[in-house]
Amino acid sequence: MGKPTYTCDVVVLRKKRLKESDLILDCLKDDGSRLDLVARGALKPTNPFAARLDLFGACRCIVAPGRSLDVVTEARFVNAHENLRTDIRQSAAALPILEALDKTAQPDLPVPRLFEMTCTALDHAAAVDAERVPAVTVAFLLKLAALLGFRPRLDECIECGRPVKSEQDWTRISFLDGGAVCDSCAMHYETVRIQETTVAWARFLLMSTFNDIARTSIDVRATFDALDFARRWLAANAGVRLKSVDFLFSSGLF
Ligand SMILES: [Zn+2]
Repeated sequence: MGKPTYTCDVVVLRKKRLKESDLILDCLKDDGSRLDLVARGALKPTNPFAARLDLFGACRCIVAPGRSLDVVTEARFVNAHENLRTDIRQSAAALPILEALDKTAQPDLPVPRLFEMTCTALDHAAAVDAERVPAVTVAFLLKLAALLGFRPRLDECIECGRPVKSEQDWTRISFLDGGAVCDSCAMHYETVRIQETTVAWARFLLMSTFNDIARTSIDVRATFDALDFARRWLAANAGVRLKSVDFLFSSGLF
């Protein structure tokens, strides 16, 4: 007896050609785990749901268990996030969200709240002006780190717990040991100096809802400094190198 077909919501993170007209879709499943699916004939122009199984799309799928990978037999949009595919700036700025998920989500390892957070982030990234998308992306990357157990502590010293009040315009950060370090404890840690404006902006993006972030005035420079911070944070704590962030920095799109 084979396993029965099932219904699940997914966000498509990456597409890989399997053979001729078939695709493998790396997806985030609605329980926050990773699910790789086969879409047969997805590259044929006549395929009725191929267009829905595209990057950034949130889809409700009917899936048939397969020998190795499960197979999508039907898909419909829950939210297409159309702007994220059609606008080059919006797309480039939101791509680190997908890449970070593709590199951290694990099969059969549910992460509570991750799917909802991803959908909320993509809803906002698709709805706001392109200049605001990088802030949504930074917020997502920092919140993702928190959900995975690597929440940066940016208010208090990781050693003594005292509020970190720098007399200077920078804050000492230990990327490997969890966040900010006060002057008195600095000798125990390997730290780097990060501009206080960057730390303050990263703190705000980590703590605020996507709704609030979408309404806040955006400083593109501070956002990209915070993006660099988030990239280094994920690299140090989750071993993830985000090529799409490297691209954003070199692209000249912002
Ligand atoms: Zn301290």
